[in-house]
Amino acid sequence: MTYFTGLARVARATGYPVIEVDGWEGRGHGHMGAVRTIVCHHTAGSSTGNYPSLNVVAYGRTGLKGPLSHYGIGRDGTIYVIAAGLCAHAGKDSQLAPAHRNHCAIGIEAENTGLGERWPDKQLDAYVKLCRALIDEFGLSANDVLGHKEIAPRRKIDPNFSANGFDMADFRAAVRRGYWTKPTTKPAGTIKPAAAPAPAIPAEPKPAPQEDIDMQLFKLGGAKYRLLSGTAYRGVSKSLAEKMIKAGHKVVAVTAEENAELSRNFNGTPDLVEVVK
Ligand SMILES: [Zn+2]
Repeated sequence: MTYFTGLARVARATGYPVIEVDGWEGRGHGHMGAVRTIVCHHTAGSSTGNYPSLNVVAYGRTGLKGPLSHYGIGRDGTIYVIAAGLCAHAGKDSQLAPAHRNHCAIGIEAENTGLGERWPDKQLDAYVKLCRALIDEFGLSANDVLGHKEIAPRRKIDPNFSANGFDMADFRAAVRRGYWTKPTTKPAGTIKPAAAPAPAIPAEPKPAPQEDIDMQLFKLGGAKYRLLSGTAYRGVSKSLAEKMIKAGHKVVAVTAEENAELSRNFNGTPDLVEVVK
C-alpha cells in the first residue's frame, strides 16, 4: 500500500524531458498495491498541442474524477508525472483480470487522437523507454506491458498504432530492446485497421459502464448526444446512442450551463461542444 513517489526518478532514467505536475506526489484515489502491469493508452484528445489532455488526465472531467493515469507523454516525448497514487485508467475491477486492475497497474496516457494519427518517433521512443524503466523499477518483464485494448478488448481500441504500421507485439519487442526503431517486417494480418470515428459497439449487450478516460456518453438537452473520447467531443446519432445505452454505456446528462463549463475546460476545442438549451 503506497504512493509511488519515485515515479519522477523513473521517468528521468529515459533521458527525455520530465515535467512534474504540481501536487503529483499526493495525487491519487488512494493507495496503490503491488505493481503487476503497465497499461498503455492514448488520450483520444485534441490533434493540436503537445499534451492538451493534461488537465483532464490530472483533474478529470464531469462524471469522472482525476487522476486518470500516473504519466502522460507529449507529442515531443516530454513525460508528465501526474500522480503517485491510485488512478482511474483501466476500468471497473469487475471487468478486468486481477493483474490488470487499477491498484496493480501503472497507467500511461500518451497524447494521440486515436483516429489514425501518426505517432512521432520521439514520442514512441519516450513511450518505450518509460515502459522499460518501469519494468526495471518494478521487477516486471516486457510481457507485462499491455495495451488497454488487450486488457479490455471489447471496449477499447487504445493505443492505436495503426498509422505507423505496428502493434503491441512490436511495441513490447522495443521495450525488451530498450529503445524504439521501426519494425522491419510487418507480420501479416496482425495490424489493426485505423479506428473509425464512432466507437465499436460491443457485440453482446452486457453492462459495461465507462469509468476511464477513453469514452463517455453525454446527453444534452433536446435529446442530443455527444460522445466524449478523451478530450474530444463527437456528435453521436440518436440511434447509435440508444445502441450504446442498450450495451450498458452510462449516460451523463448535462445542462446547458455545465456544457458551457465543460467547453471552457477542454483546452481550446470549445467549438466541438454544442451548447444545447
Ligand atoms: Zn485507455
